[in-house]
Amino acid sequence: MKKKIERGQEFVASEAELFACPICHENMLADHRGLICPNNHRFDVSKKGTLFFLQHQVKTEYDEEMFRARRKLIQGGMY
Ligand SMILES: [Zn+2]
Repeated sequence: MKKKIERGQEFVASEAELFACPICHENMLADHRGLICPNNHRFDVSKKGTLFFLQHQVKTEYDEEMFRARRKLIQGGMY
């Protein structure tokens, strides 16, 4: 059983292209700790497996469901 922080890091690493920087709106890149944008805005995965953005926390488990639904739409050619 993986720790939540590991699952969160894996999630952002595999889905990094789906994130845009909330500050400058560039595409985010994943590294070993979380996400970083080309302008060096960094967002780390917390121990609970959540990402910290500026004002609020995004729960990756919730977002994972959203992204799955979106991927289905992409694969179905409807997006
Ligand atoms: Zn940025």
